[in-house]
Amino acid sequence: SSIPKIVILGAGYGGILTAQRLQKELNYNEADVTLVNRHDYHYITTHLHMPAAGTDKIEHARVSISKLIDEFKIDLVKSSVKEIRLQDRKVILEDGTLSYDYLIIALGGEPETFGIPGMLEHAMTIRSINSVRLIREHIEYQFAMYKNDNKRNRIRFVVGGAGFSGVEFVAELADRIPQLCKEFDVDPKHVHIYNVEAAPSALPGFDPELVEHAMNVLKKKGVTFKIGVPIKQCLPDGVIVGEGEKIDAATVVWTGGIRGNSLLEQAGLEVMRGRVKVDEYLRAPGHEHVYVIGDNSLVFNKEGRPYPPTAQIAMQQGVNCAKNIVAAIRSKQPQPFEFTSKGTVASLGKGEAIAVVGDKKYKGWKAAQLKKLVDLRYLFIIGGIPLVLRKGRFFG
Ligand code: FAD
Repeated sequence: SSIPKIVILGAGYGGILTAQRLQKELNYNEADVTLVNRHDYHYITTHLHMPAAGTDKIEHARVSISKLIDEFKIDLVKSSVKEIRLQDRKVILEDGTLSYDYLIIALGGEPETFGIPGMLEHAMTIRSINSVRLIREHIEYQFAMYKNDNKRNRIRFVVGGAGFSGVEFVAELADRIPQLCKEFDVDPKHVHIYNVEAAPSALPGFDPELVEHAMNVLKKKGVTFKIGVPIKQCLPDGVIVGEGEKIDAATVVWTGGIRGNSLLEQAGLEVMRGRVKVDEYLRAPGHEHVYVIGDNSLVFNKEGRPYPPTAQIAMQQGVNCAKNIVAAIRSKQPQPFEFTSKGTVASLGKGEAIAVVGDKKYKGWKAAQLKKLVDLRYLFIIGGIPLVLRKGRFFG
């Protein structure tokens, strides 16, 4: 047919922004756009550490996709992608097949466990609404069981990785513990939270002064840090670290790494840690109709270092690749992708955060307000004022 078919895989940060921008820029009957996602909701990943720890409701971290896109302009297909066939320009879903002229792969990452034995089997990860539900229920179950069998490891927690998501989660967990202790009549002094990180510092890459502030805030909340200490093995009842020391814990949450989606490698694309090194227009090398964005893409800065995978870069990539697809359809010149950092904020639980914006540093209440602003801005971008009013008051 003469109308090009555009298929977007994944309705996360990258996929939603791509869909919204295409729906805005394309003229009537200029292209067919299909958005495929495993669930009929979009989740606000950057907020998932709260429902995971139980400091916020799960409903607050998800939005129905039909509220975010115009279904007269975009076909929403709720299905799981099973295979991407680049040669045939087809995508195999669990219940059907789609063919495309332009493909956007925005499926998000998968946990990277670096081959640590037992990690995949025994640790939980913060990656979706369902995985978060599991963590929350698991924690509550351990408290309930502790009242029955008094096993100490039930109220001992290990968070593997002290990067962004690890630190944000551990902070929420530390905020939740006093509530749980009250609810289940447990003496807080028996509860232990460990944050274990192999790198020589927590929050690698962040300003050292702010990292120190973050660690002090969390230590005061009762977190024990083990920094420069690699996890060697994960067991059903704890972890082995460093030279063989065992930390008993019935709950291990792994936040230590993200890799690209395995479907990319299976499609025959060249990957590094599961990610595709895209060209300046965000296309997979050798496939000029295939765009890869978000946690699945690898983009290098001017110093030749890869940008860390964030929601921020995924959103900007979504906008850029939508523009470039419209340009391609209209036989116009594409625009190279350039990332503009709007700053970085890490929340440290209630009323506390650290932030770097440009060359300014923030901590405490001010940084916490910034975190709230970032979250509200995102709600506004994807859902306008109605979404800000519905979900905004729960953020921060
Ligand atoms: P995602 O947002 O992960 O979306 C992928 C989508 O694809 C999902 O909807 C998923 O359901 C769907 N999908 C996956 N596989 C399939 C399949 N086979 N078939 C169909 N659908 C599928 N970044 C920041 O910039 N700031 C922060 O403060 C921040 N905090 C974070 C806190 C936590 C706890 C975590 C876990 C991450 C945080 N991040 C943050 C990182 C950020 O969330 C990711 O970089 C971002 O979500 C990547 O966007 P994406 O579009 O690549 O993928």
